[in-house]
Amino acid sequence: MPTPIQNLDEYLGNELYMKREDLFPYCFGGNKARKALLFFEEIKKGKYNCVVTYGSGSSNHVRVVSNLCASMNIECHVIAPKEAYKVTNNSKMRELFGADVKVVPVDDVHDTIEKMIEDLESQGKKVYFIPGGGHGNIGTQAYVDCYEEIKQYEKENGVFFDYIFFASGTGTTHAGLVVGKLKNNDDRKIIGISIARPNPRGRNAVLDSVREYMGDVPDIDDATIFVDDFRGVGYGDTVSEWVIKDVLIRYGIPLDETYTGKAFYGMSEYIKDKQIKGKKILFIHTGGTPLFFDSLNGLLYGDYN
Ligand SMILES: *Cc1c(COP(=O)(O)O)cnc(C)c1O
Repeated sequence: MPTPIQNLDEYLGNELYMKREDLFPYCFGGNKARKALLFFEEIKKGKYNCVVTYGSGSSNHVRVVSNLCASMNIECHVIAPKEAYKVTNNSKMRELFGADVKVVPVDDVHDTIEKMIEDLESQGKKVYFIPGGGHGNIGTQAYVDCYEEIKQYEKENGVFFDYIFFASGTGTTHAGLVVGKLKNNDDRKIIGISIARPNPRGRNAVLDSVREYMGDVPDIDDATIFVDDFRGVGYGDTVSEWVIKDVLIRYGIPLDETYTGKAFYGMSEYIKDKQIKGKKILFIHTGGTPLFFDSLNGLLYGDYN
């Protein structure tokens, strides 16, 4: 079942629509849920009984993966970078699901993952590794699928989106959408708003993922727009508290500080800067609802530590 697309009417002289990936029907939804369900098809098929993944203990990715593991009685191990450790609604759910977390300095992540997989396999477990954030061709596939849902909506409703905006992190979501555009030969702009990485690193990650999925076909470069002007000082930096309040009041839709708030803010500034008018614009709400609740005190009391 496709996630809904809502028509939100006029916005800065354009017609704004929102695809509600936050309503994807698994554990508060979001792009991590869409990606994880595809990974778990592989896990089921291969009869794995142990999952190792990488991600911050407070991430949307770890919440969804640890929930799926718990529901299937699969052992779940998370390697988390020390730098990003915080108690949040996501980390509390992860704890509830009983996933084991090993917090290590960023530089030790790679070796720790290899050693852990080796140890678990030597205990006779069948281990499946899910890359951080659901990166890789399976994650890309999830957003090729999402692109097809968008095409279907356009067909049924007689509209065509000139622009698609969303929060870009590891670039997997972005890559899937670019693949969708290239496969369909669609003339529109797919614009990822960086929530952390600067250019050229951020954009190159998207290009690498598209090439890994499609091979080196022409036009990949032209089709990939990665905007790094609105990320503040990086991951988790607050640039968007007024946007979050505004969107909640105006539409009754929760955004968060780390991803969707930044992306919505970035989209708004981009539309103004480039003087875009009279276009149909789709914003993809990539989820992260538990993060909205983490920031609620800040929204109320202005207490953004
Ligand atoms: C992870 C995440 C993103 C970024 O997705 P990538 O595929 O890593 O680029 C955007 N929004 C939310 C809410 C996320 O959790």
